[in-house]
Amino acid sequence: MGTVIVLLGPPGSGKGTQAKRLVEELGIPHVSSGDLFRHHLSEGTELGKRAKSYMEKGELVPDDVTVDMVIDRISRPDCEEGVILDGFPRTLTQAEALDEELEERGQSITIAPLIQVSDDEVMRRLTARRVCEDCGAVYNLIFNPPEEEGVCDVCGGDLYQREDDNPETVRHRLYTYYKETSPLIGYYFARDLLVRIDGEQTVEEVHQDLQEAIKAAKEQG
Ligand code: ADP
Ligand code: ADP
Ligand code: ZN
Repeated sequence: MGTVIVLLGPPGSGKGTQAKRLVEELGIPHVSSGDLFRHHLSEGTELGKRAKSYMEKGELVPDDVTVDMVIDRISRPDCEEGVILDGFPRTLTQAEALDEELEERGQSITIAPLIQVSDDEVMRRLTARRVCEDCGAVYNLIFNPPEEEGVCDVCGGDLYQREDDNPETVRHRLYTYYKETSPLIGYYFARDLLVRIDGEQTVEEVHQDLQEAIKAAKEQG
């Protein structure tokens, strides 16, 4: 029942880029915990204030806050047919909370694709990432520049650089990934949900590999 996709991979591996492309094809929403946190931050909510210092440092926001926020989001009616999760879960505690929640609803994870890229590539990509402040479209100054500098192709909005996309914070985010998130690779491998995807191909090639893996997982499940 439903399709639940858990996109795994280091920061900058292309999870958001790929999730946005899958939305149209699969007809299920993209839920990014990072986007949810940034929304709270810009709205100045209590949750945003709690998350701020962690995000600035490239550390994980505590599990209880994160789990409540994401479960709340995926409990909305638009996620009944499934969801593409991006950036969540990021710890074993979060992964267990997700499993519990899905079980209560009679759902389960369809596939956990791991988008693999090297540390050097992460660094190159993230320091050149730019995001539209209006529609959230993601660009890259090297690999996928906007037609007009600083302007979104989709909506004409201004592009900005995320504060955490500086070399020092990217390095710390990678460290956090290896330390806290990489154990999830074993967690999903043991459940036969892990599929490794070569993330250093073009956006289109990665997309095609993902599509095939998802199709195979749906047929199996
Ligand atoms: P994540 O959500 O995993 O942090 P993003 O989707 O935001 O990753 O991508 C990080 C940066 O890398 C963005 O600037 C994006 O445009 C760029 N990017 C994404 N996929 C590719 C790819 N296959 N090749 C080159 N650059 C890419
Ligand atoms: P990226 O796209 O580069 O992978 P995200 O946008 O997913 O980064 O996350 C930005 C920041 O938001 C993280 O560095 C972390 O502070 C916080 N965050 C996002 N998702 C989670 C999560 N599942 N658990 C804890 N913190 C999170
Ligand atoms: Zn835009």
